Amino acid sequence: MKKHAPCKGFLIDIEGVLVRDKRYQPIEGAVAWIQALQEAGTPFCLVSNNTTHRPAELVADLAGAGFPVTEDHLVSALDLGRRWLLERGRRRILWLGTPDLMGYWQDMGFETTVDGTCEAVVLGANADLTVAELDAALGPVLEQGADVVCLHRNPFFLDKKGRRRLGPGAWAAALEGLGGAGAVITVGKPSEKIYTEAIKRIGVAPAEALFISDDPVNDLVTAGKLGLTTAFVLSGKYPDHEILGQLAEDDWPDIICKGLGDIERPLLES
Ligand SMILES: [Mg+2]
Repeated sequence: MKKHAPCKGFLIDIEGVLVRDKRYQPIEGAVAWIQALQEAGTPFCLVSNNTTHRPAELVADLAGAGFPVTEDHLVSALDLGRRWLLERGRRRILWLGTPDLMGYWQDMGFETTVDGTCEAVVLGANADLTVAELDAALGPVLEQGADVVCLHRNPFFLDKKGRRRLGPGAWAAALEGLGGAGAVITVGKPSEKIYTEAIKRIGVAPAEALFISDDPVNDLVTAGKLGLTTAFVLSGKYPDHEILGQLAEDDWPDIICKGLGDIERPLLES
């Protein structure tokens, strides 16, 4: 059993922890739990692999569901991907995520390719992606040295009807197998980049932070390796702990519980 330092800050996954799926209905007890955190002044941020909403919309949807959160609370794969591309001067992209966000990339100063040439292929969740659309990445990856930027590599996600759908992890594996000259990078969980950014945001040492997620494989293994305490909630994609059979025992979460409401918050200092 690992020893835990007192928890002074929280990093929290959104889907499966605060809300059930892409319909954004709050999970029982989650709104009150976040409200109490906010009132106590405990540092927290939301660490999200969401690639279907603009960051401002995501926060607005959560606020609409009752969560007291602002954009300052959000560290998202979408924003990290945007910054990665900007820092390397990749302005012309093939966006294979949801068509709803095509305007987001254009508003952020990117050119979304129409003739099949680009500097980077960008992957996000897209329930409507067809194999023919994925084929459009073949030219850029095989002949143009385009980078493949995976906003995350979740193998599947739950769509608006709560159905499991193949995610960017599956598409990324297909494109990586092509062996193109460009880089293949992941910015969201489980890549360390998003954890490092989130820890910086809450200003708490990793050993004093708790990472809460419904996905022990994609979200919590990295958190544990970085020295955070980890909590696996059964309110999301896995209703029981059977999934832990896929992990080495060293990578098992420190805490397993039904939902956010069962996790102890630090006491208010007065
Ligand atoms: Mg989740």
